[in-house]
Amino acid sequence: MKKKIGIIGGGQLGLMIAQEAHRLGAVVSALDPAPDAPAFAETDSHIVAAYDDLEALEKLGDMSDVLTYEFENVPGDILRHLEGKYDIKQGIAPLFDSQDRLREKNNAKKHGLPTPAYVAVPACSASEDCTEVPSKLSDDQRKRELENAVARIGIPCVLKTRRLGYDGHGQAVIKTAADIPQAAQLLSVPCILESFVDFDYEASVVMVSDGSRTIHFPIGRNIHKGGILDLSIVPAKGMYRNSMAGGTKDMEESALGLKIAGACEHFMEDCGYKGILAIELFIKGDDFVFNEMAPRPHNSGHYTIEGCTTNQYRELCRFLLGEPLEVPELIAPTVMKNILGQDLDAAWSVVRASDAGISGNSFCGEAGTGVYVHIYGKTESRPKRKMGHITFVPMTLEEYDECWADKFVYGKYIDGK
Ligand code: AMP
Repeated sequence: MKKKIGIIGGGQLGLMIAQEAHRLGAVVSALDPAPDAPAFAETDSHIVAAYDDLEALEKLGDMSDVLTYEFENVPGDILRHLEGKYDIKQGIAPLFDSQDRLREKNNAKKHGLPTPAYVAVPACSASEDCTEVPSKLSDDQRKRELENAVARIGIPCVLKTRRLGYDGHGQAVIKTAADIPQAAQLLSVPCILESFVDFDYEASVVMVSDGSRTIHFPIGRNIHKGGILDLSIVPAKGMYRNSMAGGTKDMEESALGLKIAGACEHFMEDCGYKGILAIELFIKGDDFVFNEMAPRPHNSGHYTIEGCTTNQYRELCRFLLGEPLEVPELIAPTVMKNILGQDLDAAWSVVRASDAGISGNSFCGEAGTGVYVHIYGKTESRPKRKMGHITFVPMTLEEYDECWADKFVYGKYIDGK
């Protein structure tokens, strides 16, 4: 009998989970509020419903042997109810721990990952997670709360809403005291103030654990533009001993790479998390600090589909299906370019310039040698909306700059941030 996977969320991550689940012979359903959710094009059945529609979620549970989530903000009380009834194999703890930036950073520190200095704003002390915070502060009180927090953390710093922030939304960078009044407007909701990290580069580690074994994918370097991932470059140079000129077989993690992978795997195991977990980090010299985590496949892990011998979606599905995990290896140096709305036409041009056939508004395949285009089939394109990605294998950042960068809005990579 084929196993049935139910996915809460039907975005591009759900789409790629469904593609791999099908390759492994499973049946897939997804639930999403949008009738045109991209994953629905691949799933065997779907439910259009809100994430807090308990009846609909139970229907998904009844249809499935095992449930997973690709969306982080499913209300916690709903998940707790589902957990008692259905097999959410990954559990809800990693989701709960990642839903609030304060809880997330407290948890990272507790399990051995260094974090930037941070404080809750408004200030709170009694309970560790400080969920009881005054919701209505006057403009003056907000400003004072923020001034006090800035005095503790120092300038420059970043104010972030504790919940529901993503891709730089709900954040304000404070570079001088003059930025405080404007930033204080975020304080209509509980926030966290953290020191601005002077990093060399950003990196992410994607891991999958079945409870007895934890694997991690090769660590890539991530370049963000406007708070959104633009490029992932794998391998990240500082993480490996050799330049890979001799091929990926000789690839060995550097002391820094080993330190990071070891700390992240230890974190995952110490927390008792199972399934998939992505951790975003800031790297400075031989050190790193934790930024945030996501208990689902990660944008920076798209590259694994063509860049590695197995990918983040497949290993998640193996875990869900109770199959042994496979250790991933990098096939060749890889660059993944995120395609936001402003680059969608350019991505279609890449497909049209190849001899790949096009039908409809989605695409998934090779468009020229080593150019793997994924267009998710979202009906509405907007600037900054994730519409697809392109993975180039083999490709170094220098080659990307020379051959491809000019086709896209952000142009060439310039050393810096
Ligand atoms: P986040 O949503 O927290 O991942 O933030 C989005 C992006 O903003 C990150 O990928 C970084 O490029 C930048 N950023 C966030 N927090 C900090 C920080 N504490 N110091 C420096 N840059 C940051």
